[in-house]
Amino acid sequence: MAAIELTRLSKLYPGGVKALDAVDLAIADGEFFALLGPSGCGKTTLLRTIAGLEEATGGAVRIGGADVTELPPGRRDIAMVFQDYALFPHMSVSDNIAYPLRIKKVPGGERRAKAAETAAALGLDGFLARRPGQLSGGQQQRVALARAMACHPRAFLLDEPLSNLDARMRLEARTFLKRLQRELKVTCVFVTHDQAEALALADRIAVLEDGRVRQVGTPAEVFTRPANTFVASFIGSTPMNLLDGVVRGDGRVAVGGVPVPGGPGTGGVTEGEKVVYGVRPEYLGWGTKAADGALTGRVTVVENLGSAQLVTLDGPAGPVQVVVDEDTEVPLGTTGFATPRPDRVLLYRDGELVS
Ligand code: ATP
Repeated sequence: MAAIELTRLSKLYPGGVKALDAVDLAIADGEFFALLGPSGCGKTTLLRTIAGLEEATGGAVRIGGADVTELPPGRRDIAMVFQDYALFPHMSVSDNIAYPLRIKKVPGGERRAKAAETAAALGLDGFLARRPGQLSGGQQQRVALARAMACHPRAFLLDEPLSNLDARMRLEARTFLKRLQRELKVTCVFVTHDQAEALALADRIAVLEDGRVRQVGTPAEVFTRPANTFVASFIGSTPMNLLDGVVRGDGRVAVGGVPVPGGPGTGGVTEGEKVVYGVRPEYLGWGTKAADGALTGRVTVVENLGSAQLVTLDGPAGPVQVVVDEDTEVPLGTTGFATPRPDRVLLYRDGELVS
C-alpha cells in the first residue's frame, strides 16, 4: 500500500494537445480517490501516466515515496483495471485471475491457490472454470478486479470501472467496490465522468478541466462549497442556479432587481460589485405567496424526480430551478416564490468562490 504524489505532472501529446497541465496531487495511503471531469479533460491520460503507460512530458510521479517517473509500468507495483476489463476470452476465469502471477513466474500450484482465494473473496468461487463470455458484465468486472488483486499491488488504478454495467448493476457494483476498498485498505484511484458516482464512492475527488485541477476535496466539500463556477455547474444531479447579481449595502444581493440573502460570502465583497449568485435547487424554499428575499417567476417546466419534482421558474433573474416535494401541486403558468437558504448561498467573483 502506498501514497501517490504528483508534482507538476504534464503531458503534451504530439500535435500540441496539452492533456495535463502541471497537475499537483497528493493521494494518501489507503485513500479512495476519484478523478472527475467532462470528456477530454485528461482523466484517462492522468491515470495512464501514473501507471507508466504514458510518458510524462514534465513533472514527477512518486509512489510510496519513491520517484517512479522513469520506471516502466511493470516496475511500479500497481494494478490497472480497464474500462473494457481486457480479459482473455479463451482463458478460464481461474487462468485469467492467475495470469499476472504466471508472468511473475509464480509456480502453478501456488498460482491456482491464489486465484481461488481471490475469486472467493469476490464471490466468484462458482465460476472458476467458466470463460469470460459465459459471465454477466458485473461478474466480468469482478474477474478483472480479482486479477488486479491477486498480485497484492500497492495501488489500484480503475478507469471508468462501472461504465459497462446497466443502471441497476452499476449501483450494486458501486456498493460492492466501496466495501471491497474499505476491507483491502488499498490506495485506489478511479476515473469517472459521473459526478454521482464520484460523490458516492470517493474519500476525495479531484475535479479536472482542460488538463488542470480545478478543485480537490471531500464529496461534501465539492458539493457544498464548489471553489469555482465550473465545479459548481458540474457537481450535483440538478445543476446549481448561477445567477447574475449586484452586491447591496445591507448584506443582500440584488438578483433580477430583487434583494435576496447574501450568505456567508457577503463579508468578502463590497457594495456595487458584480457577482454570480449560486444556490442549489435543493436549498430554495418553495412558496406560492410573495415573500421577502424570494426569487420569483412563472412556472414553465415541472420535472418528476421520483421522490421530488424539479420546478423551473422564469422571472426577472432568468430561469431558476427549485426542488419541491412530491406532494405539492405545482400547476404550470402559476407564479412561484423560491427563498434561498442563507447559509447555503455562494457568491462567485470572476468565477471563483468568495469566502
Ligand atoms: P473521456 O472521458 O472522453 O475518456 P478523458 O478526460 O479521459 O476523456 P483523455 O482521454 O485523457 O480525456 O484526453 C485528454 C485530451 O488529450 C483530449 O483532448 C484528447 O483528445 C487528447 N488525447 C488523448 N490521447 C491522445 C493521443 N494519443 N494523441 C493525441 N491526443 C490525445
